[in-house]
Amino acid sequence: MKKLLMLMAATAALIGCEVSKPHYESVNDYPVKSGSAQEMTYTPQQTQFSLWSPNADSVRLSIYDNGENGEPVCTQWLKRQKDGSWQGAIKGDLKGKFYTFCVFDPNMQYEREETSGIFATAVGVNGHRGAIIDMRATDPEGWSDDRRPAMDKVADAIIYELHHRDFSIDPSSGVTNRGKFIALTEHGTVSPEGLATGIDHLVELGVTHVQILPSYDYGSIDETRLADNRYNWGYDPVNYNVPEGGYSTDPYDPSSRIREFKQMIQALHSAGIRVILDVVYNHTYDVAHANFTQTVPGYFYRTREDGSLGNASGCGNETASERPMMRKFMLESIRWWVEEYHIDGFRFDLMAIHDIPTMNAIREMLDQIDPTILLYGEGWAAETPQLEESLRPIKANCPKMPGIGAFSDELRDALRGPFYDDHVGAFLAGLPGNEQSIRFGIVGAIEHPQVDMSKVNYSQQPWTLQPTQLISYVSCHDDMMLTDRLRASVKPLKGKQIADDELMRLDMLAQTVVLTSQGLPFLWNGEEIMRDKKGVHNSYCSPDSINAIDWNLKTKNKPLCDYYAGLIALRKAHPAFRLGDAELVREHLEFIDVTTDNVTGDAKVTPDCVLGFRLKNHAGGDEWEEIVVLFNANRQAVNADLPTDASYTAVVMDGEVNPAGLGTFTGKARIPAQSALILHN
Ligand code: CA
Repeated sequence: MKKLLMLMAATAALIGCEVSKPHYESVNDYPVKSGSAQEMTYTPQQTQFSLWSPNADSVRLSIYDNGENGEPVCTQWLKRQKDGSWQGAIKGDLKGKFYTFCVFDPNMQYEREETSGIFATAVGVNGHRGAIIDMRATDPEGWSDDRRPAMDKVADAIIYELHHRDFSIDPSSGVTNRGKFIALTEHGTVSPEGLATGIDHLVELGVTHVQILPSYDYGSIDETRLADNRYNWGYDPVNYNVPEGGYSTDPYDPSSRIREFKQMIQALHSAGIRVILDVVYNHTYDVAHANFTQTVPGYFYRTREDGSLGNASGCGNETASERPMMRKFMLESIRWWVEEYHIDGFRFDLMAIHDIPTMNAIREMLDQIDPTILLYGEGWAAETPQLEESLRPIKANCPKMPGIGAFSDELRDALRGPFYDDHVGAFLAGLPGNEQSIRFGIVGAIEHPQVDMSKVNYSQQPWTLQPTQLISYVSCHDDMMLTDRLRASVKPLKGKQIADDELMRLDMLAQTVVLTSQGLPFLWNGEEIMRDKKGVHNSYCSPDSINAIDWNLKTKNKPLCDYYAGLIALRKAHPAFRLGDAELVREHLEFIDVTTDNVTGDAKVTPDCVLGFRLKNHAGGDEWEEIVVLFNANRQAVNADLPTDASYTAVVMDGEVNPAGLGTFTGKARIPAQSALILHN
């Protein structure tokens, strides 16, 4: 009680005169907050608060000693400003305290609750209260020297998606801080049989970027009960601008998650790896308790004509990026992650829920900071968004969004089979009819004279301006692991499932397509050691027994892991594989017909489930004059005619990669069953 009185005595009215409440016909009339969207500014002398809530009748600030429970040590009524914000300041050093706002708004349709606001940058346990800390005190040693690893152009990116818990929670990871941000700072970790795990494994693999699954504060894991070992992907945002407490060593200490997240970035940067954040601005964990609702009811979500909430996310709500304050919020949030945390790229979950002007504004802002910061997302939504189609950042609208990419389900499903049925296969299952969709993925969805759009699975026209707008992949955290999918969809020669050696060959073939695409290749963690999820399609809250990577698999499937690393090194060494420019791709990438011995006459006929292309005339300044890439998804070897009479050297053949050469071919080459062959002359 004594403390309460002292703090109140220190309270000073530093803000200008209060204005009276204007009348708003609708939320569209709300003014936009001037200055920063952040709500708390700390100095040792005083802490200032500023919450945007135009229609509120009053806003109360409460200061607490702890991040949860207990009564406030001080409260203050904030004063209304012209820009719709409410301001106040408390004198004295509040470092270590916590705060909430309570908004009294006549539009509140849900039970009123205290909120940390929409832009807390530090929070207490479970993110219920904002925390007053000195951000500079969270910087790890050497943070001011932290730099993005060098990268000449966007086309150089090779992305590896990982989940913090999948990657290191199993004891076989050999990691000390298992499942935590700082797991990725531990060098020298090995599997029980002595093979590199953790960050060293990433370096060994050679990827240039990691895309980390949601790492902002999310709601599905109770941070006060981490010993329960619950699992979630984290697509349920609570505080967008604070790292998740469940991945920190102490979620009660607001600085812990921030410092450790920075340590992770610093370690990855030092290892030459850039970091992409998976951002989920399209919906919130729920609506009733969400900071958006408790701060400005009715503003941040789209509604249908009948007043019910839109649900393009499939999670019960969709946000309204086209509204000025939501757009400002997203822009400042992205800037915050780039400037405070040195993030190098963003993957937008269900990007198609947002609007094109907002996405372009984000790209423009990032270009001013560093044009090599990646920006891409899912060019689809779970349900139809409450926004006209011409404004939606769907794949087909990518030409209106230069520098923004999207995942290619055309390529993914042409390889593994459709989303709607895990038991239906495609190219990898030896089924014909997918060749044009694979060509579409190889050229990066650009206009190309040799791609027959009438035969491409989902798109009727090219949807990129540049090939780097296409994310090339066969699997990600969604859906089955590739291993499970192949087991479910490829008819076995005998027995119930295809044999392990066949599985490995198909896995290699799939990722050779991905890693020779002119799009940006994308790999999901654990595919390289043939991890499975016991056939689970949607493992978003499955236990560790399904999701954790068993690092013992690395020994068993070492040839696969070596193959991935070899292909990555080949791509990095040869600019022909990453031309980065649509004109160059049209000029240098030519699909070739492959004649089998069974065909007679002059006409060249490519058999089903065989695909070939060449990268000619030192494409992209490549030291190799010509590169020939051949895929064969059949269970028999195929003899292919080579495009010229020259002698070709194989550098990828039958599951092996060796730039020094694995044999030579003249006139014809033999593509072994279910494999890729890469040659050069
Ligand atoms: Ca949380």
